[in-house]
Amino acid sequence: MDENSHSWSPWAYRPYCAGTQYCVFTNSMFRGNHGVSIITTSEIAASSPDLVAKLTSVQAGTDPAEPPYTVRDIPGKGKGLFATRRIARGEVFMEDYPSVLADVEFPGKVRRDEGQLILQRAIEQLGQSEEVLSLARSSTTGAPVQEDVMRTNTFGITIDQRSRMALFSKISRMNHACNPNAFTRFAESTLVNRVIAFRDIEPEEEITISYLEVGLPFSERQQALQNRWGFQCTCELCSAPKADIEASDRRRERVRAVRQEVLEHVQRRDFHSAIKLNEELVELIGKESMAPHLGEHYEVLARLYLAATDLKSAKKYAKLALVDLEANGGRDVYDSVDELKQLLEW
Ligand SMILES: [Zn+2]
Repeated sequence: MDENSHSWSPWAYRPYCAGTQYCVFTNSMFRGNHGVSIITTSEIAASSPDLVAKLTSVQAGTDPAEPPYTVRDIPGKGKGLFATRRIARGEVFMEDYPSVLADVEFPGKVRRDEGQLILQRAIEQLGQSEEVLSLARSSTTGAPVQEDVMRTNTFGITIDQRSRMALFSKISRMNHACNPNAFTRFAESTLVNRVIAFRDIEPEEEITISYLEVGLPFSERQQALQNRWGFQCTCELCSAPKADIEASDRRRERVRAVRQEVLEHVQRRDFHSAIKLNEELVELIGKESMAPHLGEHYEVLARLYLAATDLKSAKKYAKLALVDLEANGGRDVYDSVDELKQLLEW
C-alpha cells in the first residue's frame, strides 16, 4: 500500500493509532516543509473542522530572511539563543508554529509503550524531525528521546476550548530566566506563537523566556523547574546574593497578598483603598522587573480611577497602560485596547 497516497486526504499519511483511540494525523507540508502532527482521537479530529482546515493548509513559512538571533552552545547549559543585533522593546522578532499538537489527556489515556509509538511516529513524519529531536536535553530519566522532547518542551495552549500540549521547535531553543527579556503570545486564530521583546535586547545578549508564571518566589520557582524540566535555575535573579533573593521574595509575597486585598476592596466598592494598594503593586512590580504585568495593572488603575470618578487620573493610567499593552502585542492580545483608547477621548 502506498502510505503517501492521497487516500488519507487531507492528511499526508495514513492516521497511525498504535491500537489506541489516539491517533497521529500529519500534514508534512504545513508552513513549507515545517510540518505538523496532531495527536488526538478520530472523534475529536472530526469535531474540529476549523482546526483541521488550519493544520492541513499549505502556506509558505514566515521566517524573516535574516532573523535577529542565532543559536549557540553555552557551556554547561546546552544551547541558547543570542541576539545578533539590537532588538527593540515590543518588537516581534520570531514567529513559530506548532510541530506537534497533542490533547492534554493523551499521556494519561494510553499505555506508555503505545504512547511512545505514537510520539515517535508524530515526530518521524515531520519535515523537520531532526530539528525537533535535537531539542532533547541530556536525559537523565532514561525515557525515549521523543518522550523527553515532549515532556521538557511543550507549552499548554487552548484551541477550540480544549487544552493541548504544543511543541514549538524554534521557541524551545530559548532558555528560561525568572526575569526574562522576551515572552510568547499564542494566537488561536492563526496558530502562530509570536515572541516579543519585553525590553530592549542588546547584541550578543542571550534571549530568554520564563517557563513559569512570572512572579513566583525563589523556592517555588526552583521546585517547579526541577520537577518538570529537571534543572536548577542559575539566572541572574536566582544567583543573586542571599539577601537580595530574600528581599525579592518578600516583594513577590507582598504582590500576591496585595492582589487579593485589592479584589476584596473592589468587591466592597472601596475604590480609594483599592487604588492605594494598586499603586503599591505597580511600584513592587517595577522593582521586581515583572514587566509582563505592568500594563495590566495600569489598566486596573485606570478603571478604578474611573469608578472613583477621577477622570484625570483615569486618563493618566489609561495612557500608561496603552504604551505597555501596545508594546506587548496590542489588540491581538488585549481585548481592552480599544476601550482604553475611547477613554482617552472623553
Ligand atoms: Zn531563575
